[in-house]
Amino acid sequence: MKIASIGGRLSLITGVSTAIDVNKASDGVFCTDPQSIYARWDEFTAWAATADRAEQIEFTTADLGAPVPAPQQIFAIGLNYSEHADESGLTVPEAPTVFTKFPSSLSGPITTVTLPPGGNTDWEVELVVVIGRTASQIAESEAWSHVAGLTVGQDLSERNAQFFGPIPQFSLGKSFPGFSPTGPWVVTLDEISNPSDLELGCTINGKQMQLGRTRDLVFSVPSLISTLSTTVTLLPGDLIFTGTPAGVGVMRDPKVFLKHGDTLVSWVEGIGEITQTLIDATSSSNPS
Ligand code: ZN
Repeated sequence: MKIASIGGRLSLITGVSTAIDVNKASDGVFCTDPQSIYARWDEFTAWAATADRAEQIEFTTADLGAPVPAPQQIFAIGLNYSEHADESGLTVPEAPTVFTKFPSSLSGPITTVTLPPGGNTDWEVELVVVIGRTASQIAESEAWSHVAGLTVGQDLSERNAQFFGPIPQFSLGKSFPGFSPTGPWVVTLDEISNPSDLELGCTINGKQMQLGRTRDLVFSVPSLISTLSTTVTLLPGDLIFTGTPAGVGVMRDPKVFLKHGDTLVSWVEGIGEITQTLIDATSSSNPS
C-alpha cells in the first residue's frame, strides 16, 4: 500500500488521483495524524488489508504533505556509495557515518525551498527508510521486518554551513527549513519487488545530475538498521536517509550549486518522485 498525507490527513492511495481517508474509513479507530500509525503498525496493516474503500476522495499532488511528518528521530548516512566517496576524495568508511537532519527541516513532495545566503546549496537524492517496529540490538537478518516502508528524500545540503568550523556541522548544514523534502508517499515492502536494488536519481531543470542503484549502498538497509540499533533504539516512525550516489554539485569542477528558479526532481524506482523549486531569500516572487 501507499500511505500519504493528504491535506495533513492520513490517507491510503487507491489510484492515480484517488485515496481513502483513514480516519473516516476506520470510523475513527485511527486518528487523522499521518505520524500516528507507526506506533500501531501491526494493527494498522491488518485493518488496511480489508479496509472499506467505498468512500473515495480525489486529490492532486499539490495536496500531499510529508508522509511521515514528525518522526522522533531522523538518521542520515554519509559516504554510503563508493563512487560518492571517491568523488569526495575520501575512502569508504569502515562503519556507517551517521548524522541527523532535524525534524523541523522536513517537508512534503512538492515544495518551494528558500536558498540560504551564500549560494552553496547542493542536492543529494536518497532512499529513505521508515521504521515500523521498535528496533534494538537487531540482527541484519531481522532488519527488513522492522521497516514499515520506503519513500523518496532529498538531503539538501548548504555546504558552507556543513563544513564551517574546525569540526564539520553536517546536521546544521542539512537542516535549513525545507531541506528534507520527502514523499510522495510511503510504499510498503510488499509492493516493491526488490527493495535492495532500486534505481534512484535526480534532475535539475530536466538535466540528469545523479543516477545510481541502491544495490551499490556500501552499508545496506539491513546493515544500517542492525548497526544503528546496537547504539540507539529505533522507534516506529523514525526515518533513515540512506546516503546519496555520485553526482553532487560540490565535487564538480567547476562546482555547481542550486540557484534561484531551478527545479529539482528526485525519484526512486517503484516509489515515485518529489519536486522542489528553489528561490533566493531576497526574491519576493515565486518563479513557478
Ligand atoms: Zn546525504
